Amino acid sequence: MKGQGRDPSVSPASGPARWATAGVLLVIAVVGGLGLLSANRLAAATASAQQTTTLSDLYQDARYEVASIDDLYHIHLFTPRANDDATSAQAFRRLTGTVEALAAQPQAHAADVAALRADVRSYAEAVSGTEQATAEANGADTAQLQRTDDAGSALAADLGRSEEATHLASQRDLRAASDEARLLNGTAPIVLGASVVLAFLLVGVSRRYRQGIERQELTDTLTGLPNRWALTRHVDKLHNGTEETDSWLLVLDLDRFKEVNDSLGHQHGDELLVQVANRLRTTVSEAHFVVRLGGDEFAVIAHAGGVSEGAATALAVQAALQAPFVVARLQVQIGASIGLAAPDGSSDLTALLRRADVAMYVAKQTSEPYVIFSQDHDVHTADKLRLLSELRNGLGNDELVVYYQPKVSLDDGRLVGVEALVRWQHPTRGLLPPGVFVPQIENTTLMDRVTAAVLERALNQVFAWFQQGYLIPVSVNIPTRSLLHEDFVAQVQAALLASGVDPAMLTLEITESSAMQDPARAVQVLHALRASGIRVSIDDYGTGYASMAYLKDLPVDELKIDRSFVDTALADKASRILVTSIIDLAGRLGLTVVAEGVENHATADLLRAGGCQIAQGYHYSRPVPADELTAWAAYNRSVRDGAHPLEVGGVGA
Ligand code: C2E
Ligand code: MG
Ligand code: MG
Repeated sequence: MKGQGRDPSVSPASGPARWATAGVLLVIAVVGGLGLLSANRLAAATASAQQTTTLSDLYQDARYEVASIDDLYHIHLFTPRANDDATSAQAFRRLTGTVEALAAQPQAHAADVAALRADVRSYAEAVSGTEQATAEANGADTAQLQRTDDAGSALAADLGRSEEATHLASQRDLRAASDEARLLNGTAPIVLGASVVLAFLLVGVSRRYRQGIERQELTDTLTGLPNRWALTRHVDKLHNGTEETDSWLLVLDLDRFKEVNDSLGHQHGDELLVQVANRLRTTVSEAHFVVRLGGDEFAVIAHAGGVSEGAATALAVQAALQAPFVVARLQVQIGASIGLAAPDGSSDLTALLRRADVAMYVAKQTSEPYVIFSQDHDVHTADKLRLLSELRNGLGNDELVVYYQPKVSLDDGRLVGVEALVRWQHPTRGLLPPGVFVPQIENTTLMDRVTAAVLERALNQVFAWFQQGYLIPVSVNIPTRSLLHEDFVAQVQAALLASGVDPAMLTLEITESSAMQDPARAVQVLHALRASGIRVSIDDYGTGYASMAYLKDLPVDELKIDRSFVDTALADKASRILVTSIIDLAGRLGLTVVAEGVENHATADLLRAGGCQIAQGYHYSRPVPADELTAWAAYNRSVRDGAHPLEVGGVGA
């Protein structure tokens, strides 16, 4: 059975998966961006709060320093000391340092700093002036003292205002930072939730993607039906190691699909398969599982109802497929061969498929609407049926070839004819002899097709030889089935007419048994053939059971003594007696005698001495392709013309 590949370019899940991935990436970007933004803003708010706190600390330092200068100053007023001057200068340097540190802060206001510098300067001058006056004898006057107090108060007031403003700013910044932190705290669960949703989304998307791929692997891309893998999966799932006694499997192979495919082209062949799949879908119960196994093979499996249900389904399917299909605007009539099988104690699908397959092949041969597998259809049947199916294809593909074996006159060595012997150029097994396939097809319609094909080729070859200057009569083997076919005589006459060959150039070889199967009919057919001028020969004479009495009534021209007697005639006296008796009998009845299987010179001499006229065998030539036979005939004629002492022959035109 043929497998079904899948088209890797078709990915049903890739579209939604792409969108989902893009969506997921977008959400990740937005969430990430928001997080980054709030983190940045929190950092900025925190930095700002830190700076205002530093500023506020510096203002506080400056106020302490001013307070300590004020203390020193008032102590000096009551108990002046010699180094008070230097002490207050040092305190002012510290204060100036603090004010400059304030000025260096990014958040400090330039105007505030300028006012503070001026205040410090004025206060320093006032304190210094008061201290100098105190050092002098007359001391500082009230106005001077008042000025110093005013300068100190102005400085303290400015510092207080600035510190208050800074304090407020610091509080504002801290509030902002805490707001941002709250915001971050608030967004954290949202981000977490979004991540969980995203994770679920991703899992869902990947599951759907996986399911899409799986569906694709399990689906036949042409018809959309489940494929062979799906069937295996389905059976595995259902059986789960146990066997269901009510199960059945139906295998269906379309008849004449190849003809449609070959004549209308693959595209229309595909169209037809899609239509067949649709009919199966509508015909078969939804409870059953319909699959396309590959090529023009379909299957239906069910786990209830037993073979009686399978048989009903087979009939319904058969009826549905009998109705014509419309392909390429043509009405096409195809049918199906259906095989049915039930499990036989194991749930092995391969074995079940094989049994249904064998039954299907039997249905194909017998033209039954369906066939249920039975043990009579053994493994050999399967092999035989496979061979038949291959040969059917082979005939369509022109795989049959015809070899020719010379028949030589024992009197003078002339080539008096050839026997056409079929071979099959099998695509994988090479050139097959007729023994491999002729006995297998003897009772089938294929045999008629093979006979017709060999006859047509042989006659065309005779005509071709005639055109090359050789008159070479041909013998063609006719099996019983073809001989007794009602149209046989007409078919042979038509073939002769089509080839343009004289009927006298054709000999048909039949066997004793075929003449004996329906003697009355055989006699009638042989008369008709001979009346057309065709010669008749009895092949393998001596092996059958034809009574001698019958021989006198049979309208034949030639007897071919079977190879088994000829082969042993030299060594075996009984064979020798039989051979000479046949020669004698044939002579008395006025028949030509041909000895087949002549393998050596001595046998040829013996036969000649016994009165045999014609010989055929490896001693002269094996069966060969037509062109080799032509070369053989040319050589044979040239040696005859040169008066070759031995087997000289050849039929000149
Ligand atoms: P057959 O009609 O008796 O053909 C003669 C067979 O004997 C041929 O075998 C041939 O190769 C073989 N043979 C000829 N000379 C000798 C020899 O000296 N020694 C030996 N050992 N064998 C020799 P082949 O070609 O294998 O054919 C076998 C049989 O197959 C034929 O026996 C015939 O019954 C059948 N057959 C061949 N071609 C056709 C055909 O086109 N149609 C039908 N229906 N049957 C055919
Ligand atoms: Mg023969
Ligand atoms: Mg024979």
